[in-house]
Amino acid sequence: MLRLLQRFFRLTLLLLIASPAFAWNAAGHRISAMIAWEQLDADTRAAVTTLLHQHPDFDRWQTRGKGVDQGLTAFLEASTWPDDIRKDQRFYTAGVEEPTPTLPGFPDMERRLDWHYVDHPLNPAGNLQSSPGKIDRQLEVLAQTLWSRKATPSEQAYALPWLIHLVADAHQPLHAASRYGRDGRSDNGGNALAIINPYNTRHPSMNLHRYWDDLPGPPWLRTSRLESAVKWLTERHPPPASAGTPTLWLDESWQIARERAYPPGEESVPTISAAFHERALEIANRRVTAAGYRLAGLLQHLLRGAKKPRGTGTNDPPAPRNVPRETESSP
Ligand SMILES: [Zn+2]
Repeated sequence: MLRLLQRFFRLTLLLLIASPAFAWNAAGHRISAMIAWEQLDADTRAAVTTLLHQHPDFDRWQTRGKGVDQGLTAFLEASTWPDDIRKDQRFYTAGVEEPTPTLPGFPDMERRLDWHYVDHPLNPAGNLQSSPGKIDRQLEVLAQTLWSRKATPSEQAYALPWLIHLVADAHQPLHAASRYGRDGRSDNGGNALAIINPYNTRHPSMNLHRYWDDLPGPPWLRTSRLESAVKWLTERHPPPASAGTPTLWLDESWQIARERAYPPGEESVPTISAAFHERALEIANRRVTAAGYRLAGLLQHLLRGAKKPRGTGTNDPPAPRNVPRETESSP
């Protein structure tokens, strides 16, 4: 059975369709979300479902996800929402397009492309880019919105899909780090590094960021196949030793990026080796699983605040910002 599922994961890699590199692809996000959902207690599931019900895209999610449980379906589909809006004409890219009409309950319709990552240089030659990314800050802001009793339900309904999504993105090693060339230019988390991936026979030419995004599985992963993938991963990977904070998750990702995310050697267009690929799959599987457990812990913590009386603890930070630096245990 194990071998069969391992084969399934490798085979699915061969079936990936070409698309621009965003973040963990939809499979990675749905896997983390499904793991989180399984860990949530009934009260938190109910609170999450109530919030997502107020999101303007709740009905779209039901149509697309075709699930039996409306709460779970919304939760899974919401996990990819911040990537889905990249192609959605209701939204606009700041600085490139004119603002579009604001949907009721939304702060604005910006796609917020710089919320998905933070660009921490892996080598001292790096000068920070003009757009260094905001995932570190946004994880805190969004958590605070869910925690705060002053936030309106529509503000929380907007924040929740973003939080579900960004907890997973923070666990993608190349969302926390970039290599810089001698000219001081960033490779944008591996987006600018072309590679040959022989494990994707249809599209072996890709970039390193996309390679990592696609490791968790095919973007169409849903229903029973998603359940099988989640079962396989949670049997194999226990919850992470530390729930941690966004700072810790991004720090772990940065360390993995430094030590494991780039193929060794000096080739200008490196080819992924069998040994590298096996290790990368192992890391990606461990990271999406950890993200799921941590997302559950965070939501339980934040939405427990929903039960406290109004007017108390509104400014409590959801989690300590500064935590001791921990090293990711070797896979
Ligand atoms: Zn993303």
